[in-house]
Amino acid sequence: MIPLHQPPLWRQILRTNFVHWEKLADFLELSSDDRALIDPNPNFVLNLPRRLADKIEKKNLKDPLLQQFLPTLSEKASMPAYVNDPTEDSSFCKSSKLLQKYQNRALLICTSACAMHCRYCFRQNFDYDQQGADFDKEIDIISQDSSLHEIILSGGDPLSLSNEILADLFQKLSKIPHISRIRIHTRFPIGIPERIDPPFLKILENSSKMVWFTIHSNHARELDDEVLASLARIRKLGVVLMNQSVLLQGVNDDIQTLKDLCEKLVDNGIIPYYLHQLDRVAGSSHFEVPIEKGKWLISELRKQLSGYAIPMYVAEIAGEHSKTPLN
Ligand SMILES: *Cc1c(COP(=O)(O)O)cnc(C)c1O
Ligand code: SF4
Repeated sequence: MIPLHQPPLWRQILRTNFVHWEKLADFLELSSDDRALIDPNPNFVLNLPRRLADKIEKKNLKDPLLQQFLPTLSEKASMPAYVNDPTEDSSFCKSSKLLQKYQNRALLICTSACAMHCRYCFRQNFDYDQQGADFDKEIDIISQDSSLHEIILSGGDPLSLSNEILADLFQKLSKIPHISRIRIHTRFPIGIPERIDPPFLKILENSSKMVWFTIHSNHARELDDEVLASLARIRKLGVVLMNQSVLLQGVNDDIQTLKDLCEKLVDNGIIPYYLHQLDRVAGSSHFEVPIEKGKWLISELRKQLSGYAIPMYVAEIAGEHSKTPLN
């Protein structure tokens, strides 16, 4: 018998993610020396889509894709400047799921779930509201605040929500006259491009509000043909695509890597929006690149790429009224 309600394909794929370090270490044929560097019991658990694991070079702990997702003992280094909530998000919450720091726009923290767990994630310790499954309270607050013109769906990853919930959310936001734009911040398609399925595309297509779609990619190898094809389907709807990256030591802190990433983005109609200085979340100190080096990388990129291919290098400083440009 065919089950009445099969989960969508992307959810079935999500269930095949690597979540056990030993299975991943076996798959990547890591040596016993390398295995000894893995944290078997991290607070923020391993979560890595197969598709990304398939792209990681075997026997190479230093692979820039692996570095982003493998829990290692370097996370245990205790550094006082690296804290649980480096951006002080918790003090800017208007409700458990609505976060506003800047004028005009607010973040809806839709879900705690992600398609993958990035080790440097500044929101890995966020006190997600796991109880309330609806956004009624947030919709109410947004309706009453006409200074808000844009809602950014964030998380976690908003594309972890079902199409039904997203459609309902779009519907509710569409009824608020002062909201003119919905922005989606997601890394999901990088790991599971199947997420961009026909029902999701319908939601974007039917939206009465302007949609801006921002992905998060740090390395050109994350952007393979299938990922790019899924994003092209969104672009064909007239939705603007942008990318945010985090500058990460050992992942993308060299000119060639950043150049390849930015070129791949603009070749595919994706605007390189931000290059973020690392937020100092506890356990991430080994990823930090000095700001002086970041500035130098950007100035070198400028000599080699079109102006629109250069992301804005920014830091998030709690209490400021926008991201702070660093160059
Ligand atoms: C980064 C951020 C935004 C978006 O800022 P833009 O500069 O418009 O991309 C909005 N709210 C919060 C809390 C943020 O951290
Ligand atoms: S996908 Fe985004 S929210 Fe999720 S762990 Fe990675 S950086 Fe954090």
